[in-house]
Amino acid sequence: MDNCIFCKIVAKQIPSTIVYEDESLLAFKDIHPAAPVHLLIIPKKHIDTLSSAQSEHTELLGKMLALVPKLATEHGCAPTVMADGSLSGGYKTLINTGPDGGQEVYHLHTHLIGGPQPWRGQR
Ligand code: 5GP
Ligand code: ZN
Repeated sequence: MDNCIFCKIVAKQIPSTIVYEDESLLAFKDIHPAAPVHLLIIPKKHIDTLSSAQSEHTELLGKMLALVPKLATEHGCAPTVMADGSLSGGYKTLINTGPDGGQEVYHLHTHLIGGPQPWRGQR
């Protein structure tokens, strides 16, 4: 898509801090982080919204979601069992869809938002 900022990031026409790339997905740091860890995972292929995805995209959607826990671990925000058995860490996984869903960039993306508190509730 000619005028899509995330397609331009995929094409490396505009800079971003890329944290993961394979043949079908790209992940990079959000330019306005809402938390200590704020990554965006996108399909390289342009899809406007989650609601535009078709059955042929099922595998791609699965891969996008499966990347979340891997990146959360790499960026230190996966839930961890402490010595006393309590859980610490964790993150939000968010896909804003359409105007009422708060979507600003119309290239499907999954937010991975986490890191040490306090930040919860900012999005
Ligand atoms: P949405 O509201 O569409 O779910 O979120 C879009 C996200 O993209 C926002 O969190 C915004 O900060 C981020 N964003 C917008 N433009 C750019 C950009 O050019 N580079 C990067 N890295 N993030 C961007
Ligand atoms: Zn795009």
